Amino acid sequence: MVKTQLKARDIKDRATLHAMSNVPRHLFVPQNMKSQAYIDAPLPIGNGQTISQPYIVAFMTQELRLKSTDKVLEIGTGSGYQAAVLAKIVDSVYTIEIVKNLAMTAKDRLQELGYTNVNVKWGDGYHGWPIKAPFDAIIVTAGAEAIPQPVIDQLKNGGRMIIPVGPNNSVRQLVLIKKTENKIITKNLIPVRFVPFTRENEKNREHKKIP
Ligand code: SAH
Repeated sequence: MVKTQLKARDIKDRATLHAMSNVPRHLFVPQNMKSQAYIDAPLPIGNGQTISQPYIVAFMTQELRLKSTDKVLEIGTGSGYQAAVLAKIVDSVYTIEIVKNLAMTAKDRLQELGYTNVNVKWGDGYHGWPIKAPFDAIIVTAGAEAIPQPVIDQLKNGGRMIIPVGPNNSVRQLVLIKKTENKIITKNLIPVRFVPFTRENEKNREHKKIP
């Protein structure tokens, strides 16, 4: 996977390549998906969600230009795979997942695999993780219609954030955000498809519609 899908494309960052060579992706997918864990595609992880394609995980990680001393926030824990990749590179990772079942499974999995520098929280990532802020880098792994202001507020000056932005059910742009002296600079990187960034209250509304 690392050789043919990452190095053969434009992934050059040594820390990213090292991390992805060392995180066992097959332990982050459901039992019936294990034989496909290293293919060049996203895979279903239950609850209608997906683990991202390896290349996208690598691309987003590389764009964050991480340092080993960084404290990173991830929104959209999913399987915990991206969090594990980050945990191989940086000091501490804080990750938030809105689907309780996924949050709990990822938390247990990361603990069992010995990723002691990852903290998993079940909740709506729209609010970020204020008591742990500010962060050196922030990665949002669900597709948002707009950049959540509370999250961007929790990015350090000099920090980088990456987030897929665009309308639901459509191709989005992977947006890189740099914050310097409280000014925000954004750059569109590549078109991507991501499961939607949902909100807690929207979920409740949906549930109430079911008779
Ligand atoms: N990074 C994951 C894949 C993410 S899929 C991995 O490595 O496996 C996107 C995830 O974002 C889904 O699990 C979805 O439930 C979650 N999500 C969507 N909206 C969210 C929100 N507002 N806060 C936290 N998590 C959210």
